[in-house]
Amino acid sequence: MALIVQKYGGTSVGSIERIENVANKVMAFRERGDDVVVVLSAMSGETNRLIDLAKAIQNPPDPRELDMLVATGEQVTIALLAMALKKRGQDARSYTGGQVRILTDSAFNKARILEIDEGNIRRDLAAGRVVVVAGFQGVDEQGNITTLGRGGSDTTGVALAAALKADECQIYTDVDGVYTTDPRVVPEARRLDRITFEEMLEMASLGSKVLQIRSVEFAGKYNVPLRVLSSMQDGPGTLITYEDEGMEDALISGIAFNRDEAQITVQGVPDQPGVAYRILGPIGEANIEVDMIVQNTSADGSTTDFTFTVHRNDYDKALALLKKHAGAMGAREVKGDSKIVKLSLVGVGMRSHAGIASTMFEALAKEGINIRMISTSEIKISVVVDEKYLELGVRALHSAFKLDQAPAA
Ligand code: ASP
Ligand code: MG
Repeated sequence: MALIVQKYGGTSVGSIERIENVANKVMAFRERGDDVVVVLSAMSGETNRLIDLAKAIQNPPDPRELDMLVATGEQVTIALLAMALKKRGQDARSYTGGQVRILTDSAFNKARILEIDEGNIRRDLAAGRVVVVAGFQGVDEQGNITTLGRGGSDTTGVALAAALKADECQIYTDVDGVYTTDPRVVPEARRLDRITFEEMLEMASLGSKVLQIRSVEFAGKYNVPLRVLSSMQDGPGTLITYEDEGMEDALISGIAFNRDEAQITVQGVPDQPGVAYRILGPIGEANIEVDMIVQNTSADGSTTDFTFTVHRNDYDKALALLKKHAGAMGAREVKGDSKIVKLSLVGVGMRSHAGIASTMFEALAKEGINIRMISTSEIKISVVVDEKYLELGVRALHSAFKLDQAPAA
């Protein structure tokens, strides 16, 4: 007997048939004797539809009213699932975020959870009910409906699991787990049985969009075992947890890639104290985030080239800013390239192993892929390469690190 929080995403509740399927899944856990709290998303496409309605009237929409509107999507699915459970003879009760009392701050459209009142949920569970909670939404001190940002139902699920000290938070989605890399790029990509919170954060922030990043941070902080699994097919999914002995065998857990960045180079700047500040100062003031940075000095040491990456959405702005400042910086030229991709190896195992970087660079060199930038952290090595090498690079790395084969037990 366990207390399980299950979160089902939009595709998993996208039709009446799918909702009935979710009800069957919940019943199976009840029959095992588990207590179940279900968190639901809106039907797939519904939140987008509601946002479009809002924009047809006011663009950008008033943030408070937008939350009032989009929170309705989840209200539909929770009521339908509660009915489907009752039809099966399982007592159930649906709750909006405000009814549970998921208290948030008042930052409409991106609210943060402050506190969860477990009272109603505990009482219902004790009475043998399944509790069905609307994901993505909460209520502020003044009673305004708030939402947690796109994909926020994941965070609702994890936050409830943390508050209830659930044995596991299961995130049901349309994929059957977390993969070594995107199977659309590498067909041999393998589902991971386990991955650490740290690794998952790197994979998620690098573009493997399985879970809302905030939900992973939250799960790590409160040590909530998190499992990603498919609502359409049975299987163990991927458990996201803290590092343990069994995980030490795998040096590399996965390869993430990110096409969202662009590169800017400031060439021939006099190499003096303060150059990095003069270049990046205006970028920071414009609220543009910088990711990777490389600086190299000319042979005679008099000038330096300074290269960095920003999000593609900020590229035009950043480039224009630097072109404007080029004269004042004494730069010879400011150049940009948005056709780049960042490839990253992620794995807690690399902490204790040398030679990972050289294996990575060798694999890329064998394919004739030029590396433009490199950055490393304790559990990640990233390189920037030409966008045209995305598939080739990811495949080369996947096979160089034998990620298609299960690690020896
Ligand atoms: N329905 C919301 C969205 O589409 C929340 C969620 O699905 O997690 O972003
Ligand atoms: Mg989602």
